[in-house]
Amino acid sequence: GELTSLPDIEVSRLQVIQTDKPQPPPDPSSLVFGHTFTDHMLAIPWAAASGWGAPQIKPYGPLVLDPSATVFHYAQELFEGLKAYRDANGKITMFRPDMNMKRMNRTAQRIALPTFNGNAVIELMKQLIRIDKHWIPDKEGYSLYIRPTFIGTQAALGIAPPSEALLFVICSPVGPYYPQGFKPVALYGTTEYSRAAPGGIGAYKLGANYAPGVMVQKEAAKKGYVQNLWLHGPEHHITEVGTMNAFVVFKHPDGVTELVTPPLDGMILPGVTRDSVLALARDHASGKALIDGMPEGKLVINERPVTMKEVIDASKQGQLVEFFGTGTAAVISPVDRIGYLGQDLHIPVGPDGMGPVSRPIWKQLVGIQTGKIAHPWSVLV
Ligand code: PMP
Repeated sequence: GELTSLPDIEVSRLQVIQTDKPQPPPDPSSLVFGHTFTDHMLAIPWAAASGWGAPQIKPYGPLVLDPSATVFHYAQELFEGLKAYRDANGKITMFRPDMNMKRMNRTAQRIALPTFNGNAVIELMKQLIRIDKHWIPDKEGYSLYIRPTFIGTQAALGIAPPSEALLFVICSPVGPYYPQGFKPVALYGTTEYSRAAPGGIGAYKLGANYAPGVMVQKEAAKKGYVQNLWLHGPEHHITEVGTMNAFVVFKHPDGVTELVTPPLDGMILPGVTRDSVLALARDHASGKALIDGMPEGKLVINERPVTMKEVIDASKQGQLVEFFGTGTAAVISPVDRIGYLGQDLHIPVGPDGMGPVSRPIWKQLVGIQTGKIAHPWSVLV
C-alpha cells in the first residue's frame, strides 16, 4: 500500500472541558502519596486507522473500557512519574520532562504501542498543570506528582499491537517523602527473585515490572526491612533499590572517592534522578560546576557493575562511605543496613541520615528542582 503519514499529537487540537464540580484541595498535612488527584486529567486517544486524536483536558474521572481491552489481558500498559514545583513567588516548573517523554517513547516502542511527539505532551501537561495549579501545595517540600500513562484499549483478545490506545495524564499533590528529615532505610538483599533479566523489560517503565515486586517487598518487610535490594546473577550484582536506582560510594586507599552506579545494561531503569546525580557529580569532578560541601580530594564517577562481595569487602576495610537509592518520589534515599545471606551489613550515615556525597548532591538537586538554583533542567510551566 501507499505510505501515508497519520497525525501526531497536535496541541492546537486541544479541547478543554472544565469540571462543574471543582473540589477544594485538601489540607497538605493530610496528603498520602498518590491518594489524592486534581480536578482535571489529560486524555489523548490513538487509533491505528486515524493516528492521534484531539487531546482533551476534562474532569478527572473513571475511564470506560471494554472488558476485552488488551490492557487487562496482556499488560499493555506503561507509565511515567515526574514532578512540578511551585516556588515562593508562585512560579511553576517541571523537572526534566523531556527525559520522561523520551523514556515513555522508548517504553512504548518496546511493547508495540505507538510513539508520539513528546514536546506536544509536555505542552499539554503544562496546560493541565496551569488549570489545576492551585492544587500544588504552597508549602516547602511539596509538589505535584504527574503520572502520564499509556494503555492499549482495543476491544479484542489476541496478542498483537493494539489498534486503539489511550494516553492519559493524572496529577496528585504530594508532600515531602521524609517530612521529619532523612530516615535511612534497611534493605533486604533479595537473592530468591530477579527484577530483570538480560534482554528483558527491566529497563522499561512497564506496569508489568511492578506488580511482581510487591510480594517481594512484603517478604522483605516481614523480615524487618523497609525495602528490598534487587541482586542479579550468581555474583549478586547490585541492580536497584526497590523502585530506585542504586548508588555506592567508596573511598579508595589512594584517597580517591568513587561514586558508582550500575551501568544501563538493559536491566536497569534509566532513572531521571540517576542521570541528574551523575551529571551533577561529573560537573563537580571536572570543575565545570562545583557543588558546595562535597568532600575534598579527587572524585571519580563510574557506571560499572558492582557486586555484594565488593561492597562487603569495602566495608570490612573501612572503605564503604555510603549507599543510597535515587528516584523521583524520594529524590535520595540513604541506606544504613543491608540484610544479605543471613547477615546484616551496616552502612555509615551521618547524624542527619545522609552521607558526605549524597548530602551536597541532594541539596544541589533539590535546589534546582524547586527553582532556588536556576538551571536549564527546570522547565517553566
Ligand atoms: N528504578 C525503578 C525500577 C523505578 O521504578 C524508578 C522510578 N521511576 C527509578 C528507578 C527511578 O527513576 P526516576 O529517577 O526517573 O524516578
